[in-house]
Amino acid sequence: MLSRRVRKMNPSITVELTAKVEELRKKGGDIISFNVGEPDFNTPAHICKAAKEAINQGFTNYTAVPGMMELREAIAKKLQTDNNLVYQPHEILVSTGAKQALINGVLSLCDFGDEVIVPTPCWVSYIEMIKLAEGTPVLVATKEAAGFQLDIEKIKEAVSDKTKAVIINSPNNPTGAVYSEGSLRELGELAVKHDFYILSDEVYEKLVYDGEKHIAIASLSEAIRERTITINGFSKAYAMTGWRLGYAAAPEKIIQAMNGIQGHMTSGANSITQKSAVEALSGSQKTLEDMRKSFEERRQYLLKRLNNMKNLTCHDAKGAFYLIPNVSRYYGSQYNGNVINNSMELSEFLLDKAKIAVVPGAAFEAPDNIRISYSNSLKKIKKGMDRMEKALNLLKV
Ligand code: PMP
Ligand code: GLU
Repeated sequence: MLSRRVRKMNPSITVELTAKVEELRKKGGDIISFNVGEPDFNTPAHICKAAKEAINQGFTNYTAVPGMMELREAIAKKLQTDNNLVYQPHEILVSTGAKQALINGVLSLCDFGDEVIVPTPCWVSYIEMIKLAEGTPVLVATKEAAGFQLDIEKIKEAVSDKTKAVIINSPNNPTGAVYSEGSLRELGELAVKHDFYILSDEVYEKLVYDGEKHIAIASLSEAIRERTITINGFSKAYAMTGWRLGYAAAPEKIIQAMNGIQGHMTSGANSITQKSAVEALSGSQKTLEDMRKSFEERRQYLLKRLNNMKNLTCHDAKGAFYLIPNVSRYYGSQYNGNVINNSMELSEFLLDKAKIAVVPGAAFEAPDNIRISYSNSLKKIKKGMDRMEKALNLLKV
């Protein structure tokens, strides 16, 4: 029999859905993807060039497990300049994607039965990572009416003597919420008071709109920094999802533990990718800003379209590249005698009838919502929204 650990694990719905849409497309289905969790842009040319040079120069051997020094120095500089965070290279660990940085962090902190608080809606993998580490996820809902901001009072109620950590993600996947400085400060102070850690996943930090500002929680005080693992990566900021590179910054003791795990799991991240990441951080940042502006234009269009649809509301989220309209008024509605009961069934209806792929909110502990990614061209977004509106109008509410 397979391990208890694996038997308790749910598959990643986001990853599975991407494979399913690919399959339908191969069979000729004209599907518009709103399920995508990656930028629809190519990696900037100067970053690709650095990778080609690395190959030509024979930079193809193992690197140090925590990452090559040149890259860790570039990351330290970035953290100081962008986030007002001071870390030395030995307090930084480069990993194969932010995913690996996160699981290294969770495995380093969590023992059997330890509780890890996760504000919801949340990205699909946090809960499963905690379960893999034999910890107990403690889910604390945020409210749509409060813009999905952290509910500090509810988090206070969830803290117990078993609380080991909290995992936060701002800008948030799937809600798009960007947490306020005030709420981050309160959470940080709570962590100091009750002696728990903070895993802060900041992979969408560059994708904020409407003058919104991303705050790194570890920058708020020395005591907060002492108990925070800041996670970041190259996938979203530099359109480098396939290159697989992320990193963690934390006090040395934690980084050493994470490094120990990584040393047995995968060793250092891909050497060529690391070279290109140095270029990503130290080269021109123009393409990054161009990409952000495109997302902003799409976000505004999508938001307007969604809020103009009947029986549907959508919160004006200022970060990442997702919106999660509330579709719960369609639950109980009928099409061809079939009742649509939840976000799964509504998403299936939209895939079938409107030929658009969205992620059911249930995947993110957001049962009233569906997630729409605007990592797609304006033209496709327009066409997809036309189709969605038409399909929803077939439902009798
Ligand atoms: N955190 C969040 C919130 C994400 O949406 C993703 C996307 N996959 C990741 C982490 C993982 O990123 P990476 O590609 O760097 O592993
Ligand atoms: N993070 C993306 C998403 O939420 C990519 C898929 C995944 O790794 O979960 O869709």
